[in-house]
Amino acid sequence: MIPVTRSSMPAFQEYCEAIKPMWESRWLSNRGAIHREFEGRLKDYLGVPNVALFANGHVAMEVAIQTSGIRGEVITTPFTHISTSHAIIRNGLTPVFCDINEVDLTIDENRLEALITPRTSAIVATHVYGYVCHVEAIQRIADQYGLTVIYDAAHAFGETIHGVGIGNYGDAAMFSTHATKVFHTIEGGVVSFRDAERFRAIDNITNFGFTGNDTIGYIGTNARMNEFEAAMGICNLRHIEDEIAKRKQAATRYTERLTGVKGIRLIEPQPGVTYNYAYYPVIFDGYRRNREEILSLLAEHDMIARRYFYPSVDSAECYGNAYPAEKTPVSHYFADRVLTLPLYADLTPQEADAVCDIILG
Ligand SMILES: *Cc1c(COP(=O)(O)O)cnc(C)c1O
Repeated sequence: MIPVTRSSMPAFQEYCEAIKPMWESRWLSNRGAIHREFEGRLKDYLGVPNVALFANGHVAMEVAIQTSGIRGEVITTPFTHISTSHAIIRNGLTPVFCDINEVDLTIDENRLEALITPRTSAIVATHVYGYVCHVEAIQRIADQYGLTVIYDAAHAFGETIHGVGIGNYGDAAMFSTHATKVFHTIEGGVVSFRDAERFRAIDNITNFGFTGNDTIGYIGTNARMNEFEAAMGICNLRHIEDEIAKRKQAATRYTERLTGVKGIRLIEPQPGVTYNYAYYPVIFDGYRRNREEILSLLAEHDMIARRYFYPSVDSAECYGNAYPAEKTPVSHYFADRVLTLPLYADLTPQEADAVCDIILG
């Protein structure tokens, strides 16, 4: 059996040591010592000036959007996790879907300007499979129109562009540290942000909006990361480079086997980006078997690939028919053709070979 993903774990004893102090302190949540230590280590690792920690990535994005104070319309990508557009709508804002580019499947900056109206206040875009958005071009447009930029960086933990941590781009960036991600805290989320003054309410909003023992300054939520999760984060952060190196070996084997096969497209690495090998996307476009056939064929051999992202989020059932598919044809095209192959640190190159044998067989 080859699952689509498998959580990295520190040694059992290492985690036990990390949580041991809590049997003395009895401080299990609410910005305890472990939480604060983890925050500091994360800032160093991500190379960002400020971070806030959360119960999960989705609520982290909801709180980042609320704290930034954006209003009205938000231009966003349809080729993402449903979390991104849900977070916009649950803040009472209106998503405006901008189609993606065909090269790396991130938001197409050339289509942004046509979607800007007097009500537009922000761009919320997703780095896809670790391929980063065209951050410079997006920032130029945002600056020109006075828009806030927030990135869903759930796929891009630890990546850099020409040595600059990905969390430094935009006004804020959200990382999910869910068990299935490259780096995890069991469940969890992180927001990095540039301007500490603008985001000063972020920890208060995460804790019901309390600004003092008896003062509630904001309509907040409960989105706190607990100490057990922070302890898992501290442990996993010690091993992240090794885990990424192991993922790279498996990914490299996929690339060796699948490059140059007619009807199979791989996404080219972007210059200057250090990857985390979070996912291995393969586009079946004119291959002798279509995506659904490959998915079932792999499943018959107990190998689990995933249609991801699927469906294009603008066509989610819960949004009714509010967003016609004709407006985002590229997103729909790729949502019908992409599979992400099994990829995790413990996946051996031999297992990657076995997956390729089925795809190419
Ligand atoms: C995983 C993921 C999320 C949601 O994160 P959770 O921690 O599961 O809430 C949001 N966006 C993207 C792109 C993701 O991959």
